[in-house]
Amino acid sequence: METRINLPQSEMPKAWYNALPDLPTPLAPPRDPETKEILTPDKLEPIFARELIKQEMSSEPLIEIPEPVQDIYRLFRPTPLVRALKLEKAIGAKCRIYYKNESVSPAGSHKTNTSVPQVYYNKLEGVRRLSTETGAGQWGTALSFACSMFDMKCTVYMVKVSYEQKPYRKILINSYGGEIFPSPSDRTNSGRAMLAKDPDCKGSLGLAISEAVEDAATHDDTRYTLGSVLNHVLLHQTVVGLETEKQLAMIGEKPDYLVGCVGGGSNFGGLVLPFLPRKLKGEDITFVAAEPRACPSLTRGSFRYDYGDMARLTPLMKMHTLGHAFMPAPIHAGGLRYHGEAPIISNLMEEGLVDARAYYQNDCFEAALLFLKTEGFLPAPETSHAIASAIDVARNAKPGSCVVFLYSGHGMLDLASYDAYLRGNLENYELPQECIDQALMMCPTVEG
Ligand SMILES: *Cc1c(COP(=O)(O)O)cnc(C)c1O
Repeated sequence: METRINLPQSEMPKAWYNALPDLPTPLAPPRDPETKEILTPDKLEPIFARELIKQEMSSEPLIEIPEPVQDIYRLFRPTPLVRALKLEKAIGAKCRIYYKNESVSPAGSHKTNTSVPQVYYNKLEGVRRLSTETGAGQWGTALSFACSMFDMKCTVYMVKVSYEQKPYRKILINSYGGEIFPSPSDRTNSGRAMLAKDPDCKGSLGLAISEAVEDAATHDDTRYTLGSVLNHVLLHQTVVGLETEKQLAMIGEKPDYLVGCVGGGSNFGGLVLPFLPRKLKGEDITFVAAEPRACPSLTRGSFRYDYGDMARLTPLMKMHTLGHAFMPAPIHAGGLRYHGEAPIISNLMEEGLVDARAYYQNDCFEAALLFLKTEGFLPAPETSHAIASAIDVARNAKPGSCVVFLYSGHGMLDLASYDAYLRGNLENYELPQECIDQALMMCPTVEG
């Protein structure tokens, strides 16, 4: 029996799958953060590459992956689909568990699937430098990798508290040739304003977004990039699900459950969206989204228009949100500490097509260590949510079911989190309803 299902490179997908035309109800349009009017594409042009704006609103069912992007994908794609036999045995599972391993990419997570095309399209349009924010550091690493491939400059604003906690991220980003600044920095008006108010401010993702957007808006040769949430990001991630579909077909498997962790929703979307047409035709496939109990945007958030960032600079998107003012507890899965959820995933959730579940961080680390001791690899703290959820699903599924989860990244740069867990220093945060209610009160009201 094959336990590692490798797809030949000749079978690597040549086009991404665009879910927009297949959604049972169309997405609510993004709106201007100031006027609240429906946004026209030209408004986004000072910030994003034109081709990416086109993809954001495209109705084409398939979008060709440019040859230079495929060329870089081939450094690490197709990624393996692996049968987790030892994990199955350890939990006494009556079903088969597979994982799609995206941790084999150079930056160590699925985020390179979108950083590579984003850098490529910007380069084509004459952009010389890209700016972005990063929380835990994975997106900044993926972007600096892609910039080094296309000989572009890269500026990363990293939330100061993570910058200090994870010094190896900075070294890796510098090694790829990127520059990185703890946010708040003295390079932007938003950073300087915050430092004037509070010189010891440890930063937040919302503030880092404000700095990166301002940097792009005030420099002609620079544009901004985002590593999750947006439609074009989920589009690029579908290479994951498209490969998985072929790999399962190779061994005559049909998935009953597809499981992924959700921060902004891009790795989960990348896995499940290519299976949406089959699900809509009546195939019984359950899409399971695993999120932290400390930041439960799908299980406890509200579906409404909200800003993507704390500084209210981004367009308004209709999504499941805990409110842009929501400050999640300092859990170790930094990549899952986002107040909102991708509009596409939120839309599917409203249609009843996503089964969302929330987990405590200690249970996730316990699952991660079980995975480590059976399958051998050290998962990222974000990925541990997918593992905890896959185990949960496998324990309760009908015998003989096929469970596939997305292994979004490795945890080799997150060892301090494991240290905290092993010392018994991790808290399970309970999130009182008042915190959510309070943050939701700050959401904008939008007619229609
Ligand atoms: C960023 C990240 C996530 C969460 O982001 P999504 O957009 O929801 O995929 C999950 N896992 C890893 C390893 C990440 O780096």
